[in-house]
Amino acid sequence: MNISVVGSGYVGLVTGACFAELGNNVICVDNDRAKIKKLRAGIMPIYEPGLAELVKRNVKQLRLSFTTDIKAAIKASETIFIAVGTPPKDNGEADLTAVEHVAKEIALSMRSYKLIVEKSTVPVNTGEWVEHTVRTFSKRGVKFDVASNPEFLREGTAIEDFMNPDRIVLGVKSKKAAECLSALYRPLNAPIVVTDIKSAEIIKHAANSFLAMKISFINAISNVCDALNADVVEVARGIGLDKRIGDKFLNAGLGFGGFCFPKDLSAFIRISEKAGYDFGLLREVEKINDGQKMALMKKIESIIWNLRGKTVSVLGLSFKPDTDDLRYAPALDIVEMLIRHGVKVKVYDPISMVKARLILKKSVQFCKDAYDAVKKSDCLVIATEWSEFKELDLKKVKKLMYQAVIVDGRNIYDPAAVRKLGFTYVGMGRK
Ligand code: NAD
Repeated sequence: MNISVVGSGYVGLVTGACFAELGNNVICVDNDRAKIKKLRAGIMPIYEPGLAELVKRNVKQLRLSFTTDIKAAIKASETIFIAVGTPPKDNGEADLTAVEHVAKEIALSMRSYKLIVEKSTVPVNTGEWVEHTVRTFSKRGVKFDVASNPEFLREGTAIEDFMNPDRIVLGVKSKKAAECLSALYRPLNAPIVVTDIKSAEIIKHAANSFLAMKISFINAISNVCDALNADVVEVARGIGLDKRIGDKFLNAGLGFGGFCFPKDLSAFIRISEKAGYDFGLLREVEKINDGQKMALMKKIESIIWNLRGKTVSVLGLSFKPDTDDLRYAPALDIVEMLIRHGVKVKVYDPISMVKARLILKKSVQFCKDAYDAVKKSDCLVIATEWSEFKELDLKKVKKLMYQAVIVDGRNIYDPAAVRKLGFTYVGMGRK
C-alpha cells in the first residue's frame, strides 16, 4: 500500500518505519524541517531501541522516505495517518490545532479517494470534526473516509509493541475503510476490534485512564503501607497473582509521567465533564499521582533534615527507562522542587542528558555517570528505574557519598540488602 504518516515523532516515525518493514511504501511527513533533515541524514531525532536500524534498512530498500512536502505525500498515498501531537491546553483539554491543520491540508491537496486515519490520541468526536473539515475544504466530489486507529505502543519498546500488539482497534464508518485497514494490519496476526469511530476514540482514553488508575491505586496502597510499616511489593505480589487483577502496572513509586497518561487522563476528565458526567474517580487518580512527588520530598527531609545547602543526586530524568522522553517526567518535578528548596542538585541519566540540558540549563550540575553524580552528596534519589542503576556498585557509591542515604523513588533496591551495606534507605511503601 502507499501510505503517508503525517507527524514523525515517537508514534509517527515508529508507525511509518514498521509499516514499511511490513512491505508498504511509506512517506513520513513532518513540518519540522530540522527533524526531516536529520532523518534524511540517517540521524534519529529520538532515542528508541532498534529504530535507527529499522529506518536505515527500509530507506535503503526504498520503502521509506521523509519529507516536509505534505501535498506531494498526499498525492502519492491513498491512506494517510495523522500522528501529530495533541498536547494539553491549560484547562486540560487536548489541543487539536495540528490535527485540524493536517485535515485541511489533506482536503486542499486530495484529487482522488483518500482514507484518512486518526493515529493521534484524540477526544471522542474528533473523527466527526476531521470529516467536517475535509468536506468543507476539499474539491467537490472527491470521495474519502475517516477512520480511527488509536496507537497503544509504549516508548522504550515501541517497535516490539507495534509489531506484536495485544489488539488493533479500528473505528470505521465504511466497509471499504474496514477492509483496507484490516488488510494493512493482517501480517501482525493480532485480534482486530472493528467498531465505530466514537467507540474507538473512547477505547484509547479509557485504556490509558484505566492503566493510570492502576498505578495510582498501588501508589495509594504504598502510602498506607508507609503509614503502617507494611511492604507494598509484597502486597502487589499478593494481589497481582489474582488473574482478575494481574501483576502488571503494580509498581509503586513516584507516579506516572510522559506524553500519554497525564494528558490523556486530564483530557478524558474534561471530555466526560463536557458530556455531563463528573468522572471524580479519575480526578482522584490525578491527585494521588501528584501526591507521590510531595511524598518523596517529605521522605528526603525526614532523613537529611534541612534541605537548604544540602546536595542531592537525582539518578534518572526521563519519565521511564529506555526512552529520552522528558515530557511530564516526574524526575523533573522533583529536581525543580529541590532547587526551590535551596538544594544543590546533581543529575545523571543514561540517555536524556542532551535534552535535559535544554530544559534545566544551568540550574543543576550535569554529571558524566552515576558515580560522578553521587560524589559528596547527602542523598541519592532514584527517579527513573534504568537497569544500570540496579547494577550500581553500592559499596563504591557509599564511599563516594557525604551521607549514605538512598531515597528510592522507584523501589529498585532490596531494602534489607542496602541497609546491610550501611545505607539509610527509604523506598515508596517499603518496610
Ligand atoms: P511527538 O511530539 O513526538 O510527534 C508529533 C510530531 O508531529 C512532531 O514531530 C511535530 O513536528 C509534528 N507535527 C506537528 N504539527 C504538524 C503538522 N501540522 N504537519 C506535520 N507535522 C506536524 O508526539 P508523539 O509522542 O509521537 O505523539 C503523537 C500522538 O500520538 C499524540 O496524540 C499522542 O498522544 C499519541 N500517542 C503517543 C504515544 C507515545 O508513547 N508517545 C503512544 C500512543 C499514542
